[in-house]
Amino acid sequence: MKTYQIATIPGDGIGKEVVPAGRQVLEALGAASNTFKFSFEDFDWGGDYYRANGVMMPADGLDALRNKDAILFGSAGDPDIADHITLWGLRLKICQGFDQYANVRPTRILPGIDGPLKRCAPEDLNWVIVRENSEGEYSGVGGRVHQGHPIEAATDVSMMTRVGVERILRFAFKLAQSRPRKLLTVITKSNAQRHAMVMWDEIALQVSKEFPDVKWDKELVDAATARMVNRPATLDTIVATNLHADILSDLAAALAGSLGIAPTGNIDPERRYPSMFEPIHGSAFDIMGKGLANPIGTFWSVVMLLEHLGEQEAANQVMRAIESVTATPALHTRDLGGQATTAEVTKAVCDFLGKQERVAA
Ligand code: NAD
Ligand code: MN
Repeated sequence: MKTYQIATIPGDGIGKEVVPAGRQVLEALGAASNTFKFSFEDFDWGGDYYRANGVMMPADGLDALRNKDAILFGSAGDPDIADHITLWGLRLKICQGFDQYANVRPTRILPGIDGPLKRCAPEDLNWVIVRENSEGEYSGVGGRVHQGHPIEAATDVSMMTRVGVERILRFAFKLAQSRPRKLLTVITKSNAQRHAMVMWDEIALQVSKEFPDVKWDKELVDAATARMVNRPATLDTIVATNLHADILSDLAAALAGSLGIAPTGNIDPERRYPSMFEPIHGSAFDIMGKGLANPIGTFWSVVMLLEHLGEQEAANQVMRAIESVTATPALHTRDLGGQATTAEVTKAVCDFLGKQERVAA
């Protein structure tokens, strides 16, 4: 019997509701399996920890995570603490500390979900967005001078390295190659950003030569937003810089029906460190503490976590459970126009997994 060591970090806001829900799903899977189970360690890092200790997580926090098989994360963001403190003090510390350079965001219109696009059949929207997750616009390079004076100035410098660009493009080409359509769109902005993005384009062309069976094209990021809305079926795998993909993937989540459904993985493809899985939504201050959060984004993140661990059959089971829930309007949470609670959706998914096990046995 294999025991996977899982770190859970609920963080703030609805993270405290959806991460325990995700853990329940993993526990239900472990209880039903005779080949693997999970051992959890929960970390209380986030806004409350900051109020008590002046930091979002302890200085040696990464050491406590280093030997885990995976991390399940909720959200960093507190109504009373500046967003750049919560984000940099927790989530980015882990992503950057563990060099989780590939952020992977699958998007599909799940059964029973009514997306906002009028002329888009569910099968027309089946994308994976790959986001560069270690440098670029969010490298943290920059500064402020003359603070508070009329001559105040500030910079955020986008750092792109050849190694960083090559590795994310190679990851994206490989991922595209593994999907049925073998189709990759490289997002750029080399018309206006004439240094780093030109290097990005050159490296894309160079890496593409390693993948002759992958069809690929380039699209400017602004044009890409229109293409996502008007011609969704022309896209499959998409790769973009940290900032560009951050924005495109929220658009993708909205086009697929709700921010509450979308999952993501912060992956270290070389497996030197644990990878981290999380819903893409934030703390959702407007609904936190009310039991209304949609846990599906976390459950889909659990699917990605299981795939990363090599437990493909368990991942498939959870995905089937998710699809059975979304196909049932009575199990839709408020963001999907329904009235179901986090607890009801979680119970439905766990019940489905229990039933499936009995059928399989
Ligand atoms: P948000 O995702 O928290 O909320 C946007 C809207 O979507 C809200 O109306 C919210 O109620 C709704 N929503 C989000 N997830 C939902 C779910 N699971 N079920 C139902 N409705 C859901 O984004 P925001 O308002 O821009 O940010 C709030 C805070 O979260 C900020 O502090 C921000 O920095 C932080 N944040 C953190 C992360 C992260 O840690 N990965 C990501 C995004 C935002
Ligand atoms: Mn974002």
